Amino acid sequence: MKTILIAEFKQETNTFIAGHTTLEDFMARNLLVGDEILPYFQGNKNEIGAFISVLSKRDDILIIPSVAANALPGPIVKRNVYDYVRALLLEDIQKAEALDGILLSFHGAMVVEGIEDPEGSLLEDIRYIVGDTIPICISMDFHANITKKMAENSTLMFPFRRYPHIDMYESGVCAAEAMLGILDGKIQPVMRTKKLHILCPLITSDEEPYIDFLNAATAFEEDNDVISVSVSAGFPYADISAGGMCVIVQTNGNPAKAEQIAKTLTNMIDEAKHQLQLNIIPPAQAVEIAIAQEGTTVLADVVDNPGAGSPGDATEILHELIRQGAQNAIFATMYDPQVAEQAAKAGPGATIQVSLGGKSDPRVGPSVIANAYVKSVSDGIFPNKEVMSHGVLNHLGTTAVMVIDGVTVIVASNRYQPWDPEVFRANGIEPTETSIIVLKSSIHYRAAFGKFATTMIAVNAPNVWTLDLQDLGIKNCRRPIYPLDKE
Ligand SMILES: [Zn+2]
Repeated sequence: MKTILIAEFKQETNTFIAGHTTLEDFMARNLLVGDEILPYFQGNKNEIGAFISVLSKRDDILIIPSVAANALPGPIVKRNVYDYVRALLLEDIQKAEALDGILLSFHGAMVVEGIEDPEGSLLEDIRYIVGDTIPICISMDFHANITKKMAENSTLMFPFRRYPHIDMYESGVCAAEAMLGILDGKIQPVMRTKKLHILCPLITSDEEPYIDFLNAATAFEEDNDVISVSVSAGFPYADISAGGMCVIVQTNGNPAKAEQIAKTLTNMIDEAKHQLQLNIIPPAQAVEIAIAQEGTTVLADVVDNPGAGSPGDATEILHELIRQGAQNAIFATMYDPQVAEQAAKAGPGATIQVSLGGKSDPRVGPSVIANAYVKSVSDGIFPNKEVMSHGVLNHLGTTAVMVIDGVTVIVASNRYQPWDPEVFRANGIEPTETSIIVLKSSIHYRAAFGKFATTMIAVNAPNVWTLDLQDLGIKNCRRPIYPLDKE
């Protein structure tokens, strides 16, 4: 019998957003310990779901579920959260008898009060306890800011390859299978990481130039010695010294090959860095194009993405839709617990005067003052039905569908990044039959909405921060780095 401890500790930190991510924020998504973990994640198409699925197929593996802590992306994480999760995890590792391996699901771009590299620090602590021989395999986000401490204190790392992150489950499967390969003596793990002096903006992996990097990585993987080749984009909005892209090459007992592939791929990315560009346009122009288009146009409020830590109540695109008289338009989601509650009290069929959105900060735009018809009210719980995090439940809190002029707005009590059309269908709206869909999402929406949208436009609306790396005010990242220091 072999014993593998599994754990999750995930949050993506945007250090340019004021405030803190608290223990309550983790509890709102998931903060589970011990025996609560397996039943909760079993069958889920995410990393922990993959760990459970792969490991439980084997009779000779005992799973020790330790802690599963995950919060919506947001501002810097409170120190007490880190101390709490760290204590639980280290205690479980210490008290486990004859531990054979540790499988972790990390994001890789978390920042904690006073700790720039919490995942690296935690790995260092784990390594100190278990020694050098116990394998530690990790699934990570595409946006992980890979650090020296992470690389030195883990055995193998598997960041998602795709943005939209449609391969969370696959990353978990790769990490779990690699762990079994090591324990079975079939894999002699070798990992080489190479940091690039490049900050990558929030761009999709499905188009050039990123798709070229991934195709090259896949071609290298055809070699039997190669376990995996990954290109982690990094998350430049977590301002730490180790920001930036990173190539990770993992082989079965072949350090020279790992070194050589990492070098070749790093050179290729460096040569293409000038193509790593955001293509975003202002709200007025975007709405004008959407109204003129045939079919369904998606307008993505790429800056007000709660999935990157944004407030989720920016109003400029909604103002613009009303101003330009857009019809058959739907909007997901406006974070406004007060208005959701007001609508719930009035009930479906009522028309109420609302002051909607624009409450978190003056920079997200003024509230929309309007008469709104309350179409329906719900508890905001629904599962993802598309490939990304399939089966995982969303909790939007009290949710109201309201119609303001020609725009149907889903008003939620929790911040939420819509990437699954089920956010509309669960609320009685069929998105394929609409003309304009506004989504507060940077890239993830493309996977599911791209299947039926005629046009998808990234909109640059005002917010508390900017996607523009030059104007962001990056202070901590090591220099020189592209595009802050152009070469
Ligand atoms: Zn990500």
